[in-house]
Amino acid sequence: MFVFRHFLKNLSEPATGPDLSVAQWRALSRQVPLMYAMLVCNTLTVSWTHYDIAPPLYTIYVPGFLILFCVVRTIVWWLNRHKQVCPGSARRSVQIMIGMSVILATGFVAWGLSLFQYGSIEQQFQLASFLAITVIGCVLCLMHVRAAAILVAVIVMMPYVTFLASTGHIGFNAIAINLVAVLATLAFVLVGNHRDFSSLVASRNAMAQRQLETQRLLEENHRLANLDALTGIPNRRHFDRQLRASLKSALEAGTSIAIVRVDIDSFKTVNQIFGQLTGDQVLVEISRRLTAMKADTTFLARLDGDKFVLIMQDPAGNEELQRQGEAINGALSETLHMSLGAVRITASVGIAVSQEGDTPEKLFDRADYVTWVAKREARGGCIVFSKHHARELLQVRRMEEQLHTADLEKEIQVVVQPQYDIVLGRTIGVEVLARWHNAVLGDVSPAEFIPMAERIGKISHITQIVLKQALQLSEVLPGSLRLSVNLSANDIGSTTAIDQIVALVRAHSSPTRVDFEITETAVMRDMGQASQSLLALLRLGSRIALDDFGTGHSSLTHVQRLPLHQIKIDRSFVMDINSDPASRAIVKTMVELCRNLGMNCVFEGVETETQLEALASLGARVMQGYFFGRPMSAAAFLDHLARENAARLFENRVSA
Ligand code: C2E
Ligand code: MG
Ligand code: MG
Repeated sequence: MFVFRHFLKNLSEPATGPDLSVAQWRALSRQVPLMYAMLVCNTLTVSWTHYDIAPPLYTIYVPGFLILFCVVRTIVWWLNRHKQVCPGSARRSVQIMIGMSVILATGFVAWGLSLFQYGSIEQQFQLASFLAITVIGCVLCLMHVRAAAILVAVIVMMPYVTFLASTGHIGFNAIAINLVAVLATLAFVLVGNHRDFSSLVASRNAMAQRQLETQRLLEENHRLANLDALTGIPNRRHFDRQLRASLKSALEAGTSIAIVRVDIDSFKTVNQIFGQLTGDQVLVEISRRLTAMKADTTFLARLDGDKFVLIMQDPAGNEELQRQGEAINGALSETLHMSLGAVRITASVGIAVSQEGDTPEKLFDRADYVTWVAKREARGGCIVFSKHHARELLQVRRMEEQLHTADLEKEIQVVVQPQYDIVLGRTIGVEVLARWHNAVLGDVSPAEFIPMAERIGKISHITQIVLKQALQLSEVLPGSLRLSVNLSANDIGSTTAIDQIVALVRAHSSPTRVDFEITETAVMRDMGQASQSLLALLRLGSRIALDDFGTGHSSLTHVQRLPLHQIKIDRSFVMDINSDPASRAIVKTMVELCRNLGMNCVFEGVETETQLEALASLGARVMQGYFFGRPMSAAAFLDHLARENAARLFENRVSA
């Protein structure tokens, strides 16, 4: 029994693996029902020809049982023909099939040989051919399962050949020899066939594995190409595709979509204070919060750095969008508890809704613009693009175009505004301010074109134009006066820009009389780079002033850490110095602070005598503002100086 089982196992469990069992099962499920049909048909013909001569046991009951067996097995195979089998159950079915083949072969050969005694010589020949042909048919149907085919051949052939040989009839002996020859040939063919079948299955399996691996790599590539590696949400590329698709289907359906841009404010500060790792965790948390609050149909992506974007399908009206934008702000402004401490962030949200005939670029441009407006005017808030933004945007784009195409060397001219020392009673320096008169747009305020030039990368060019003119001016102005040139964040954040500034100053004069004004926001972007840039300027003999102090994220750390010579207090503190006790207190503190730090303190925006007196009473000394002189051309300034000198001479004479 053990040997038999071992034989079955060896024959039915191929070395090529479980896929062969599945392939065998599939082949059997196609061929076995045919084999049973053939058996039923052959059994019926034999029963029919022996019906009158043999007892009912051999013409009705035994064949009836064999036919019933075949029919039941056919039904089982038929019902399972479309089933997806696993290798384990395929192997079990194949083994059951082998067992069934043994039972059937035994049953049929026993029945066939039992009938032999009842028939005439013709009927005996019919029986001999029935068994021979049927066994060949069965072997062919079972050829994919070598064990079953060989077992059936052996089980039928041995008693059959022995029996036919024992009859002593030359015809039967010949049939027996024929059958042995045919079955031997079949067995030979079968072994080769089975080998080919196994290797075919193996190679098909290997190919399927390769295809699976290729598919997996393709999916992985697709994932990497479309998802942001840090947060796991879609990236810029995915967003671009999604925007095109969403806009197209919205326009076709007569609906709209909204782009919601979410830009984190001053994210660099988080990186600077807590480090890059915490910065990354904050971004992951932001994407988690945005994912949690968005609707299922809303698409969320990270554009780059600290910029996220959502695409809303069929958005509600502007008021509802405003509310949703504020809800995003609310969710993001909740304290983030990181391992290194609590982090608080705010975001500026800009929303634009698609219109008829929009392109993805136009829609994104509107969202981009309104986010920029939100960053400047409503930090930590939300702005929905409206009609007046559309008018502004048109103007902005025209201005951008002019900044790109106009001859700025010719169109930008500097003016100077005096800085007055009330103790010395004279102008001690000037701030150099840019003025742009454009052929198309006319006069454009620096408050408009400077931020735009920063945005479109033209600011370094403008700085160089202003610096060149300031250096030329320094030759005309009295040697005691210093000139202050404003630098933008992009200037001090870029080594190239600083190198160009240094080269310009070096090429012009030595020692220089040009100082530079920087803002806190510029410093905050990259403290390390800012310090490097400032040191390069100090080496020129220039001095550095911190402009608009008190308007940005004022931090004494910056004041202490940077090599500053002067702090310029923003005019918002001067404006209501006479009406607001808080402004007075701040001015007083700032005067003391500068004194303690050994820095000069310049008060900006002094417009009236009462402001001047209030500042003077608090210890202020150097001032700048319309009261002392508006920004003016070099020629006008020389006149201004002449008048100032004349007045001083007159005063001196009077007092003498
Ligand atoms: P800022 O550097 O703080 O310059 C002072 C601004 O305040 C100037 O405006 C000046 O005209 C104005 N101002 C001076 N005194 C008074 C006053 O008593 N009352 C009022 N209401 N305003 C006063 P301006 O020239 O329009 O420049 C605006 C800003 O544009 C500047 O602010 C500066 O940040 C920027 N800017 C101007 N020229 C340049 C430049 O060449 N390069 C860079 N990077 N920025 C520049
Ligand atoms: Mg300034
Ligand atoms: Mg200022």
